[in-house]
Amino acid sequence: ATPTALLVGTGRGAQLGILIKGPEVLESTRRVDTIVLDKTGTVTTGKMALTEVHTADDVDTTEVLRLAGALENASEHPIAQAIATGARDKVGDLPAVEGFTNVEGLGVQGIVDGKAVLVGRTALLAEWSQHLSSDLAAAKAAAEQQGKTAVAVGWDGQARAVLVVADTVKPTSAEAIRQLRGLGLTPVLLTGDNEAVAKAVAAEVGIDQVIAEVLPADKVDVVKRLQGEGKVVAMVGDGVNDAAALAQADLGLAMGTGTDVAIEASDLTLVRGDLRVAADAIRLSRRTLRTIK
Ligand code: ADP
Ligand code: MG
Repeated sequence: ATPTALLVGTGRGAQLGILIKGPEVLESTRRVDTIVLDKTGTVTTGKMALTEVHTADDVDTTEVLRLAGALENASEHPIAQAIATGARDKVGDLPAVEGFTNVEGLGVQGIVDGKAVLVGRTALLAEWSQHLSSDLAAAKAAAEQQGKTAVAVGWDGQARAVLVVADTVKPTSAEAIRQLRGLGLTPVLLTGDNEAVAKAVAAEVGIDQVIAEVLPADKVDVVKRLQGEGKVVAMVGDGVNDAAALAQADLGLAMGTGTDVAIEASDLTLVRGDLRVAADAIRLSRRTLRTIK
């Protein structure tokens, strides 16, 4: 290998907005046949907004927003930020929280206004035997069919509301998927979010394979499983919960807009957070390899 060709490759990469950790990375781009894409913050903007509040009959919307908003205010999750911001817009200052706990990949819990409050997936509420009424379950299902995220809220032993948070697909994602397919890669959408949301997003950007409801710690196992099937796997992610999977992948690509932990675990960083740059990166790396050989 001529070091000059590698330097040209990495220099051009920097111009395109790709940071390459080391020249040895280029080799893995040649054999990659599968690209696993994290959903939130990678395929979507990750910037969500609170769009709907559904409450049980005897429950006041303001109270739901105060309790859920206060709890989510203590979390950095994009869903939490959307709920806290939306709540503050509607009800003003939020109360203090005691005993805040983040249940990774499921939601949050803590004490607000003397009430034990849960906000998150229905699986989190189910751990405390809190189940949605049929009306709330219907509201949740309707939102999810539209590709939105429905979050359950419960306190004092009962599920009492469903909040709907909507994220939007990045305008460049569908084109990026088309280009990645053109490079011979099979895209797979990987997310901790539920199957219906994941499928709606996948359909919007042209991905057929969806692996949903994967806990953060299990994302790395999905990559291992694909590798076990003989696939050579690239993984694109942005979050702390993607770091192990990014490191396990044959080629890890971090969104430059993502967390430092994800960037640290990756071989390539896409500076602009534009998924089309993943296709640019693979194309450039392959071209650079041809020059070397
Ligand atoms: P992703 O893999 O798409 O980045 P996560 O693994 O971070 O998503 O979260 C998985 C799911 O857990 C979310 O879609 C949401 O339903 C729920 N969840 C996680 N954290 C929170 C939170 N702070 N508030 C509400 N729901 C949450
Ligand atoms: Mg993510």
